[in-house]
Amino acid sequence: MNRLDLVVVGAGFAGMYTLHRARGLGLSVRVFEAAGGVGGTWYWNRYPGARCDVESMEYSYQFDEALQQEWRWSERFATQPEILRYANHVADRFDLRKDIRFDTRVLSAIFADKRWIVRTDRGDEVSAQFLVMATGCLSCANRPDAGGLDSFAGPIYHTGEWPHEEPDFTGKRVGVIGTGSSAIQSIPILAGRARTLTVFQRTANYTVPANNAPLDPDFVARIKADYRAFRARNSLQINAFGSNMPRSSIPARALTPGERRAALEARWEYGGLFFLGAFGDLLLDKAANDEAAEFVRGKIRGIVRDPAVAELLSPKQVIGCKRLCVDTDYYATFNRPNVRLVDISETGIDEVTPRGVRVDGASHELDALVFATGFDAMTGTLLRIDIRGRDGRTLKDAWRAGPRTYLGLSVAGFPNLFLVTGPGSPSVLTNMIVSIEQHVNWIADCIARLRAQGRAAIEARPEAQEAWVEHVNAVAGRTLYTQCNSWYVGANIPGKKRVFMPLLGFPDYVTKCDEVVAKGYEGFDIS
Ligand code: FAD
Ligand code: NAP
Repeated sequence: MNRLDLVVVGAGFAGMYTLHRARGLGLSVRVFEAAGGVGGTWYWNRYPGARCDVESMEYSYQFDEALQQEWRWSERFATQPEILRYANHVADRFDLRKDIRFDTRVLSAIFADKRWIVRTDRGDEVSAQFLVMATGCLSCANRPDAGGLDSFAGPIYHTGEWPHEEPDFTGKRVGVIGTGSSAIQSIPILAGRARTLTVFQRTANYTVPANNAPLDPDFVARIKADYRAFRARNSLQINAFGSNMPRSSIPARALTPGERRAALEARWEYGGLFFLGAFGDLLLDKAANDEAAEFVRGKIRGIVRDPAVAELLSPKQVIGCKRLCVDTDYYATFNRPNVRLVDISETGIDEVTPRGVRVDGASHELDALVFATGFDAMTGTLLRIDIRGRDGRTLKDAWRAGPRTYLGLSVAGFPNLFLVTGPGSPSVLTNMIVSIEQHVNWIADCIARLRAQGRAAIEARPEAQEAWVEHVNAVAGRTLYTQCNSWYVGANIPGKKRVFMPLLGFPDYVTKCDEVVAKGYEGFDIS
């Protein structure tokens, strides 16, 4: 059996950077990746309209000054093909591919005799001292079990597993199930390609315009003149992005109605996720939140001509407690004569038939079906792998009551196993590349320290883990984030334990991680 220092699972931005850092430490390392190339999210999510909602100048690595200087983004919010080109550029530049085994899925990782034994679907069996799960938070597609699905005569797609050859929807009657970020990005484009587009909506979602545009060369030059300082300012934001339009510190109640309206209007015009920063307490105070929510509903009524459709598109839940969506022409798409919105909030889908979808007894005839139904987020991908720690205990068993980690990086009972952006870390509430780099640096520094001190293993203490889980819940409990059926709490997956999985607040989290190290890896057992 091949003996390695480190196995990494996944070659998205997390796995790629882990490989780069591991090489710098002189570790023998192998990366296994189920996809045929690098890029993770951006390899799989090739649906029309896919692009980032964190600005391009921020949604990139900062570990290498030459890299961030040489790469040129073309738009304010980069498209999926451009981000995938960037990932491939990084792989070429740092010669990463030679240590990545593509088209290879890890099936199991078992801790035995102080080493991790990793097995893949291609028959690999390797052992490693350390194991890094860079498997992604949004990498396990959720394909709801709609009755009759197998009988459907046309093609079925999932936005998160989009084919490499773009489907031709010309002249086709296309159905989209879901109205989350992926649907909201793809619906305006699909509507322009298909003969008819029928959108099946379970929960209306808030979305704000991206106001995307080509990047202004002067803006880019200003950032590149001192990219490090720009990155540093962003890392001090609660979500690790957006220092150009920081969250207001002023609570809504300290403003007059006219000032509140002006603040919301300015953010709506600016475009993107910054909308949620209009008031300091927008995600803390229900009255402040209600005002922002009603503002968006007013915009919907102003854009969508049919009042009944506008009403159906108007979300009722707390704004921001499901991830806010960012769109180009989403609401206006429902003014097109070839687009129909079908409310399935009360009835769900009765069944899929060979010729379409039946809802509440009515048939909707379709030639193709698109599932934009999201992911079994944060835990799904990990729990698909048979991971067994000390004494043969499975991760599935350890997480039966919901995911439990220390710092989102480590799990008690699973020595030398590291999670990148795991549950209990800021992860999906941040610019994820920033969180990824912070985690990978922490992990790499930890491995370097252990080796320098001649130590073999590190493992989270159960009591530190319990205290951390409590802390994550307490932070979430002070906000409005827990108040709706989001994938942050696992509500999109039937039977999934409801736990608010990410941690709010990047800067405080970084301080905590640094303190843990400064105190000799407080909360960990090192042997
Ligand atoms: P991924 O990119 O998910 O990579 C994980 C890799 O692990 C995958 O390639 C997968 O194939 C592989 N893998 C998983 N299990 C196994 C296994 N058992 N064996 C082998 N390989 C395995 N974040 C932002 O910050 N800003 C954005 O604008 C943004 N937009 C997004 C848009 C979409 C459509 C989606 C789905 C997510 C978006 N995200 C965004 C989140 C995005 O996932 C992260 O930004 C980032 O790309 C995650 O990188 P990663 O390497 O951690 O995980
Ligand atoms: P999502 O936000 O989870 O949305 C899934 C949609 O499918 C929701 O409307 C959901 O309805 C619906 N749905 C799920 N199961 C269903 C069922 N059984 N029957 C009917 N409808 C069902 O997934 P996503 O849109 O793929 O986005 C996931 C995350 O990826 C985002 O939140 C974001 O973090 C990231 N992302 C970002 C961007 C970007 O702009 N950069 C783009 C895409 C994705 P309910 O709301 O009722 O559950």
